Amino acid sequence: RAKSEGRGTHRFFEAEMDTRMQRRRMLEVELRTAVAMRQFHLLYQPLLALDSDAVIGFEALIRWSHPERGLISPAEFIPLAEETGLIVQIGEWVLREACREAASWQQPAIIAVNLSPVQVRSPGIVEAVRSACAAAGLDPRRLELEITESVLLTDTDETFRTLQALKALGARISMDDFGTGYSSLSYLRRFPFDKIKIDRSFVTDLAEDAESAAIVGAVIGLGKSLGMVTTVEGVETAGQLAHVRARGCDQVQGYLIGRPMPAEQVQRLMDDKEAA
Ligand code: C2E
Ligand code: MG
Ligand code: MG
Ligand code: MG
Repeated sequence: RAKSEGRGTHRFFEAEMDTRMQRRRMLEVELRTAVAMRQFHLLYQPLLALDSDAVIGFEALIRWSHPERGLISPAEFIPLAEETGLIVQIGEWVLREACREAASWQQPAIIAVNLSPVQVRSPGIVEAVRSACAAAGLDPRRLELEITESVLLTDTDETFRTLQALKALGARISMDDFGTGYSSLSYLRRFPFDKIKIDRSFVTDLAEDAESAAIVGAVIGLGKSLGMVTTVEGVETAGQLAHVRARGCDQVQGYLIGRPMPAEQVQRLMDDKEAA
């Protein structure tokens, strides 16, 4: 009995694998179409400064509206875009679009853009950032480029030269999702990040979990002592906000402050939440 069940399970897995690979192949073809057909758009999530309680910027977050399947999350298509190299083209579109949008705001607020490791390692990245700012008429000093630790795992010298060149343009470099990767501390010592964004996973159970609270407090202190701006991501409750504020965190992002929103709502939010 066990034997036949085993075979059945095996066949089931094969069928499931087939379906998954078919879905992947289909997604890949559709991703190429999406680039050509401009099926992407950006949402903007506010960034709150805790010294002034003002919204001082926004992070651009990509969305794919598939004509039949509806909204597809970046968690699903970014990895595929990275494997196929399409992320370079998609990422250039994100840069141009985000810079153009930010240049239209009445306040010279920060615009944060996520860069994939594949993009950072692609030869045209510095020129792509420079030309996106130039085309939009955006001061590069308003641009923050968010990278994750995984960028730094390979080709470290080359990567550091690229990051230095991006900084030389005037852009700032943030380490995103801090605490989820490897060897974070040695990277912080080797490369002068401007900002460190503490991952949402540490915030979720701040109130109940003494370890998470200790880590968040320690990383805020570490960031400060290294001269970096500290941001906490994923703040959803007033309790979490009070906690990170008391620990001396500089900025927060999260559903409590605002969900990622369409470009049309950005200006109004900034007008409402300007420093008094
Ligand atoms: P990320 O850069 O760490 O962005 C933060 C993610 O957390 C966003 O998910 C945001 O919607 C979500 N988030 C923010 N506040 C809260 C909160 O209070 N609670 C919860 N539960 N979630 C919150 P999203 O938009 O699905 O993006 C996921 C990831 O996809 C991003 O993580 C980023 O790594 C990547 N991504 C998004 N847009 C781009 C892009 O244009 N280019 C590249 N290369 N990656 C992107
Ligand atoms: Mg980010
Ligand atoms: Mg993050
Ligand atoms: Mg993340």
